[in-house]
Amino acid sequence: MSTPFPVNGYVLVLNCGSSSLKFSVTDPATGDVALSGIGDALGQTEPSVSWKLGGERFSHPLPEGARNSDAIRFLVEEILQPADDLYQRIIAIGHRVVHGGEKFSESVRIDESVIRAIRDCVALAPLHNPAHLLGIEAAAAAFPHLPQVAVFDTAFHQTMPQHAYIYALPYALYREHGIRRYGMHGTSHRFVTGRAAELLDIPAQKINIISAHLGNGASITAIANGKSVDTSMGLTPLEGLVMGTRSGDVDPGLLMHLGARMDYCLKEINDLLNKQSGLLGISELSNDCRTLEAASSEGHRGAQLALDIFCYRLSKYIAAYHGVLSRVDGVVFTGGIGENSALIREKVLAQLCGLGYRLDTGANAQMRFGAEGPIHSSTDGLQDRPVLVIPTNEEWVIARDAARLVSAEESL
Ligand code: AMP
Repeated sequence: MSTPFPVNGYVLVLNCGSSSLKFSVTDPATGDVALSGIGDALGQTEPSVSWKLGGERFSHPLPEGARNSDAIRFLVEEILQPADDLYQRIIAIGHRVVHGGEKFSESVRIDESVIRAIRDCVALAPLHNPAHLLGIEAAAAAFPHLPQVAVFDTAFHQTMPQHAYIYALPYALYREHGIRRYGMHGTSHRFVTGRAAELLDIPAQKINIISAHLGNGASITAIANGKSVDTSMGLTPLEGLVMGTRSGDVDPGLLMHLGARMDYCLKEINDLLNKQSGLLGISELSNDCRTLEAASSEGHRGAQLALDIFCYRLSKYIAAYHGVLSRVDGVVFTGGIGENSALIREKVLAQLCGLGYRLDTGANAQMRFGAEGPIHSSTDGLQDRPVLVIPTNEEWVIARDAARLVSAEESL
């Protein structure tokens, strides 16, 4: 990013999941990553930590059943402290937190009241928020001298207007239980919005884009004047686009049908919609877009249908968001699929040709493995419809927010 940065030093970025710990040591000024790694299979029989430092890759097993706190201890004692130069330069810890409910519209320095508020949101993210809380506790014990910051996936979407986030259900469910649409992937949508503003040379507070984050989880956001005004994920990450193993939008009547007519219990319905559906469910082959593309090119009908439905549903959302925004300055593709799959981008833009989208096939083929840039072709005599591929960088956003909050407090 071009703005001068107020602090010198690194941020330790932690993403604590229920069975994994992703970590990086990131320079908030440049986004450079000095250390990155993952603690995997935590709480299971063969947990391990793998990391990359100074261009070299390492891996180490942890004792059976080791948890997040054990992985954090290993990170501190076995990785960071021996790399003393790096360790000494860490100025803050930034935590990715999935759900901040309505309490957080931006990142915050973690204190007791923030921990209580994250705990209050556990019902909204029962798998993620408890793991984040354990990570925050373990990080506070391991780095008692360092400030901690929470960066919420939901925060960017707190600017959505009521007509976008209220379900057409009895209003009391919202008033009394907080049942509404929250949206996720906010950190990614925020990052690419900032990059799109730079690439399109439009002030960040004025830009209108449609941002498609397409990974194993996928969501799309309509952004007006730099702010989220609608997004496809809802109360939970299940709503919206077709994903790797999640169904996205279905008729809610399906749930009654499965329960009343087919004897599914709640857990089975949950597993069906979250773990057995999406690309995997349709293709009966894989949730991995690369596998499906390869199979599709060899004539696998399930893979072809899965990719067709994925693209069709995504195109419908993009078209709908044209109706949400008064002007669309561009469409952004990001996430593992958005950044790498020329085929998906091509199919989506072909579906949208009626809205004036035109693909530059050569540019599209080049955009993979971290490349960034436009993939639309200029349309003679017509208004261009810019389409950009922008690799997302949530760690950098978390590092920047953490460093900014810490330096702002220091300068008080
Ligand atoms: P993410 O969750 O953001 O890591 O994205 C994971 C998804 O990106 C998986 O479906 C991968 O198959 C997909 N992906 C990664 N690289 C490619 C590629 N070169 N072509 C197509 N899909 C890809």
